[in-house]
Amino acid sequence: MLQYIKDNKLINDYTSIILEALEYKYSDSFICPICGSSHVTKNGHYKNGLQRLYCHECQKSFSIYKGTILEGTKLPIVTWFKYLLIMSKDEDLRDCAQYAGVSLKTSFYMRHKIMNALANEMNTVKLEGIAEIDETNAYISYSGNFKKQNTNKELPRKSYQRGRKSMKHKYGSSYTDKIQIACAVDRKGNIFLKVAKIGTTTLGEEVKSIYGEVIEGVSDLCTDGFYAYRNLCKEKGIKHHAFKNGDKRKRGIYHINHVNYIHSQIAKYTIKHNGISSKYLDEYLALIAYRIKCKNSDIKTFFTDLFQCHCTFRRSQYIGTDFITDNISMG
Ligand SMILES: [Zn+2]
Repeated sequence: MLQYIKDNKLINDYTSIILEALEYKYSDSFICPICGSSHVTKNGHYKNGLQRLYCHECQKSFSIYKGTILEGTKLPIVTWFKYLLIMSKDEDLRDCAQYAGVSLKTSFYMRHKIMNALANEMNTVKLEGIAEIDETNAYISYSGNFKKQNTNKELPRKSYQRGRKSMKHKYGSSYTDKIQIACAVDRKGNIFLKVAKIGTTTLGEEVKSIYGEVIEGVSDLCTDGFYAYRNLCKEKGIKHHAFKNGDKRKRGIYHINHVNYIHSQIAKYTIKHNGISSKYLDEYLALIAYRIKCKNSDIKTFFTDLFQCHCTFRRSQYIGTDFITDNISMG
């Protein structure tokens, strides 16, 4: 068994705190997940005791978990809480299943629901105050893409079939093996990780479109002094602080140590998993960000927020395919 929180009482305590916060928050000011209207009122309860809400705009009723990872789940919330806890560690699907007490198949669905919500959340990240920016790169892993029915048309090249090195020459250069990852973090612990582009060439003026909205509320930006960042800061009226790459020294409160730490975590992840899965690049980046945030956040507020993230992963999309068996070995 895993050496992690084993104290069931502690887990139950946490769960009820989160549940209370959820019910309170949701019932108070709920935005309709279907039409976006705020004209939503309480409307009795479902058989399982869950609060039912009614939207006067689109005249639909739904539970407080509509559009989140908890929508349609038959599992108790404590199982989800446990699963979120174990996902903050780099454990594989089997270990996660064992810890949360669910089947391997369920473990797969839970993981992908959560990763989907995390990736959606990443699209809304806004940094503020002092922030650090720098790109890193990582290898893409093509595992899980072998089956015909799972052919991903957007793949930059065919998957290697008998080991990376031996097949490399058949597909030319390794140009498309790498991705550039946009990476930004502020002092409140908000993390932005996104695939900037596929390939080995570094970014240029693209940084404007990638980071533009994310750093709208930033006052000071610490970077490696790359010209595109200078231009970006000028345009946005942000104070720019340049540091040499790999420089660990601080100038007062300014440094790029946080973003370097995130780079090291991405590197650690890709070494362990032979790259980031090509199918879910942004999802896995969101997962890496989640793990870093788990270390530094108040678990109760953090998880309460997470339970409200928008989740668009639907189990029905995957029923009847070999999707699960293909992916069960993935970390
Ligand atoms: Zn509505």
